[in-house]
Amino acid sequence: MNFKIGLIHGDGIGPEIVNEAKKVLEAVSSKYSHSFTYENLLLGGASIDATGEPLTDETIESAKDCDAVLMGSIGGDAKTSPWYQLEPSKRPEAGLLGIRKALNLFANLRPAYLYDELRDACPLKKEIIGDGFDMIIIRELTGGLYFGEKKTVVEDGMRKAIDTLTYDENEIRRIAKRGFEIAMKRGKKVTSVDKANVLDSSRLWRAVVEEVAKDYPEVTLEHMLVDNCAMQLVMNPGQFDVILTENMFGDILSDEASMVTGSIGMLSSASLNETKFGLYEPSHGSAPDIAGKNIANPIATVLSAAMMLRYSLDLDREADAVEAAVRKVLKDGYRTGDIMSEGCTQVSTTQLGDLLVERL
Ligand code: NAD
Repeated sequence: MNFKIGLIHGDGIGPEIVNEAKKVLEAVSSKYSHSFTYENLLLGGASIDATGEPLTDETIESAKDCDAVLMGSIGGDAKTSPWYQLEPSKRPEAGLLGIRKALNLFANLRPAYLYDELRDACPLKKEIIGDGFDMIIIRELTGGLYFGEKKTVVEDGMRKAIDTLTYDENEIRRIAKRGFEIAMKRGKKVTSVDKANVLDSSRLWRAVVEEVAKDYPEVTLEHMLVDNCAMQLVMNPGQFDVILTENMFGDILSDEASMVTGSIGMLSSASLNETKFGLYEPSHGSAPDIAGKNIANPIATVLSAAMMLRYSLDLDREADAVEAAVRKVLKDGYRTGDIMSEGCTQVSTTQLGDLLVERL
């Protein structure tokens, strides 16, 4: 099949890790007889250097013309980079928020998976880790508290700040559907996380999620309060398959879940809109401290490419093959510096990419 993939190389280690992911995609296309064409898009610091803006209309239009976009991280060192002398709306991160909004990317997916070979990096006790864990957090990304009406006023000489948490049923329904569809491709269990004992928005969330669940009888639905979920993630992470939640809860829980895996260079993410289109990127930043040294871990970006194959291109078998290649490389004892442990062989960014291609 033919697909057009947008590539945002980004800043810092971005170009290095995207190049390795592209290498892996090329291996997939030749093994499974697909044709991938690539379009390079500018975003963030690289876009500021080339055009003066962190995001241009050209990038938005070109992205819309692609089946999916794969991105390395954007941004630089806030203390030394001239990008951070610019006003906030002109800085690299404004480009990222802008493209998410322009493409209506309302569903954020962040898997947290514990590789057997990286158990030592997990900060949890062995008896808690048990057989490991494999979950995905699906976070609503364009509504809720971060996007509601906000203001700071002075009343009777006292400063007062107001943030508004709003969700309408359509916003909840579309993210819930995404959650159930993804559960159907995985372990068929959804844990919907809310604060329904206190918040009206959560009570509506719960009601709409239950309505959507009726269309997915094979999926088991459970509800969990967000404070309990925060505890369960460190007490019994193996119980989760799909965690479905609103914007702010998802922001916090997805960072907690990623820390539980213990290895930031391994974590992928995706942001999807109502069509099959998605923007795929590692969960980590642009790591300016190690940029250009050929030592960055490309696995998070390679796994983001696997998510792209699965969710935007419907190439599940190919996504499985990429994920299996990652497991094999780890099993064979190859590591980049960030996940290095005794008895393993340390390799560079490009060597790791080559090893993945060999195993495909
Ligand atoms: P970071 O994730 O870039 O780095 C934190 C630490 O983890 C650093 O020591 C870094 O060397 C290491 N690290 C990160 N990814 C790695 C990898 N693949 N391999 C090996 N080591 C890795 O976070 P930061 O330093 O807080 O942010 C740096 C820049 O990235 C900032 O400009 C920030 O705004 C930006 N950022 C961008 C995104 C994004 O593009 N979505 C996300 C987070 C941060």
